[in-house]
Amino acid sequence: MNGLIMDYQLNIPLIMKRAETVYADKEIVTRLPDKSIHRYTYADFVKRAKKLTLALQKLGVQPGERIGTFCWNNYHHLEAYFGIPGAGGVLHTLNLRLSPDELTYISNHAEDRVVIVDKVLLPLFEKFKDNIAGLRHVIVAAPEPSEDLAEGYLDYEKLLAEQDEKDFVYADPQENEAVAMCYTSGTTGRPKGVLYSHRAIVLHSLTAASTSVMAMSESDTVVPVVPMFHANAWGIPFTATLVGAKQVFPGQYLDGESLLDLLEKEKVTFTAGVPTIWLGISIALDKQPDRWKLVNGLRMVVGGSAAPEALIRNLDKHNLKVIQAWGMTEMAPLGTMANLPSYLLDSPSDEQYAYRSLQGTPAPLIEIRGRGEEGFIPWDGQALGELEVRGAWVASAYYNSPEGADRFTEDGFFRTGDIVAIDPHGCIRIADRSKDLIKSGGEWISSVDLENALMGHPAVAEAAVIAIAHPKWQERPLALVVLKEGETASVNELMTFLQPRFAKWSLPDNIEFIEAIPRTSTGKFMKAALRTRFKDYTLPNVEF
Ligand code: AMP
Repeated sequence: MNGLIMDYQLNIPLIMKRAETVYADKEIVTRLPDKSIHRYTYADFVKRAKKLTLALQKLGVQPGERIGTFCWNNYHHLEAYFGIPGAGGVLHTLNLRLSPDELTYISNHAEDRVVIVDKVLLPLFEKFKDNIAGLRHVIVAAPEPSEDLAEGYLDYEKLLAEQDEKDFVYADPQENEAVAMCYTSGTTGRPKGVLYSHRAIVLHSLTAASTSVMAMSESDTVVPVVPMFHANAWGIPFTATLVGAKQVFPGQYLDGESLLDLLEKEKVTFTAGVPTIWLGISIALDKQPDRWKLVNGLRMVVGGSAAPEALIRNLDKHNLKVIQAWGMTEMAPLGTMANLPSYLLDSPSDEQYAYRSLQGTPAPLIEIRGRGEEGFIPWDGQALGELEVRGAWVASAYYNSPEGADRFTEDGFFRTGDIVAIDPHGCIRIADRSKDLIKSGGEWISSVDLENALMGHPAVAEAAVIAIAHPKWQERPLALVVLKEGETASVNELMTFLQPRFAKWSLPDNIEFIEAIPRTSTGKFMKAALRTRFKDYTLPNVEF
């Protein structure tokens, strides 16, 4: 219509242009493979991202081609996040925790033409490199130019040194063009690709930065501990660059002590990762509560799997504020976030903790609903159903994959596979993955609720609850518990601990102590492996 405002394309180059002009002197810090610290400014970062764009263009990268990255969280990877889109390429982050077979499948399916690899990861990359059919170039990144690269490899630093950033011209791609892709960790069937558009990433970044979600700003110092190869580190490198926050990358050092050193030295105010990481930090802080001086109220976003209430409480004791978020690769990945609402500000702390251990309310521009066996569930906080979502950064299909088409409803929602209750304010509680729910005599038992309760016992480090086939009840819960180092607890003691919190029929029939819980490449409990290990398990006779 005549007189309408500009048709302004929301694209990634805009984020880089802003970083260059508004935040030129802000800092980007990386822990290098030799554990030393690398520092440079946003101005340096943009200059090098531009040179990467120019180098890729000279290597013949065509718009829309997929360019893989096989890197830890570091400044090279950040340059790739912006340099690849600058050349019109699609940033495809490869998950280095997957097996060579999975990586072969994913890289071929995505048709990666160039891959940027951290030099320290070359031995891992070489396990599948020769199986990538259309691969034209491998660019090896390290803090210094490498003189010892084998035939066929290009050196990242030398490539950049050959470019003059004055040749760079900002592209203005259409906002609905593809710019990045990630593969889901493949809960069922083959891993599936999700293709993100410029628009989805820009809107995701803006919303994530807003005060009703992550409240990230220029005054923050941000550490994405969540890998940049997992759902774009939850979009944090894009969000932090958009708002001009100081960024700190931990490289390959993700143990509690290394992270705490970094959080202390760089005066970090915001970090994000899976519960396992914060469990490591929580244990290190319990052992040496006075060793690190962290910023008071440091915000830690926890997602990827449920944050146990005991973990939230314990980190509070150390003045660290856990905020739970839920998301999926299929939604770039932010879905919901559990910021304490105003109506709970004056409530007793138990009520506040109960809320903070939920997954939270949908981010603006995300719609949710729950589908039960008899239609959509009421938002009463009780009824359970499968969560369906749609919104500005939710996948509409998997990339080149007929498999998985049934995950998208006819009216444009994505079926998440997560079973939830939704309260009257739209706050969700994830009861389980649909395949992990335990159905006993027609009633659903939430393994997550039992796990969280068990992890509240002082002797328990971790707990996973799985279904065991049962002649009368179809399925019954078995709890698998890992005790904290040096702690003891008996089955009876743990059962007595659970009893006041659960109906008798929803308690586990037995508890087994195991040495460790197997995990997926993205840190989630690998319940399928536990189900296989305990498939012939005989439960004791329990009356209820
Ligand atoms: P991914 O695509 O690998 O990030 O995995 C997404 C899945 O992780 C979701 O469908 C959930 O099952 C699980 N998940 C993510 N965040 C949470 C959370 N805060 N609580 C419980 N489960 C979560």
